[in-house]
Amino acid sequence: MHELSIMQNVVQAALDAAKQSGAKRVTLVRLRIGVMSGVVQGSLQFCHEVATLGTLLEGSRLEITELPAIIECPACRSPRTLPNIQSFRCPICQTPAARLLQGRELEIESIEIEIAEPPAQEDAP
Ligand SMILES: [Zn+2]
Repeated sequence: MHELSIMQNVVQAALDAAKQSGAKRVTLVRLRIGVMSGVVQGSLQFCHEVATLGTLLEGSRLEITELPAIIECPACRSPRTLPNIQSFRCPICQTPAARLLQGRELEIESIEIEIAEPPAQEDAP
């Protein structure tokens, strides 16, 4: 499943970040996902639960920010947000889009962690 391998990568990246911060638990993962990324959000939620089992992320929440598709219109010379992704034309003048500026993102926006208790003995300098 496409979404499962995506979530495994996300979980791994979040784990790396969490370990560097000395986290004992990750409580929230925020993703930014473009509407053109081809990812099914409901499926991501399910795969998040599966991929986080037995890790520092187990029980964490997944928040997804959906980014609309933005094209560059060669006629208007402006970025235009597509109202839907069925049509790749400028919504103002109907000129076919030249370039996709946003919409294929699939990235971690941020994670929230719980920091582990500081160790009992201190290594003060
Ligand atoms: Zn236009």
